[in-house]
Amino acid sequence: MMPQPIPSDANEQICPLCNRLISKHTPEQMLECSKKLQDVKSEDV
Ligand SMILES: [Zn+2]
Repeated sequence: MMPQPIPSDANEQICPLCNRLISKHTPEQMLECSKKLQDVKSEDV
């Protein structure tokens, strides 16, 4: 067991769209998720 560093970065946030760590996203996934996020927001309003 190795001591885990304390996540304090925005990259440690979990993406609400795919429930994965944002740091685990590929650049393509980042693009898709950010697009979907904007779509959801615009629809929600
Ligand atoms: Zn995502």
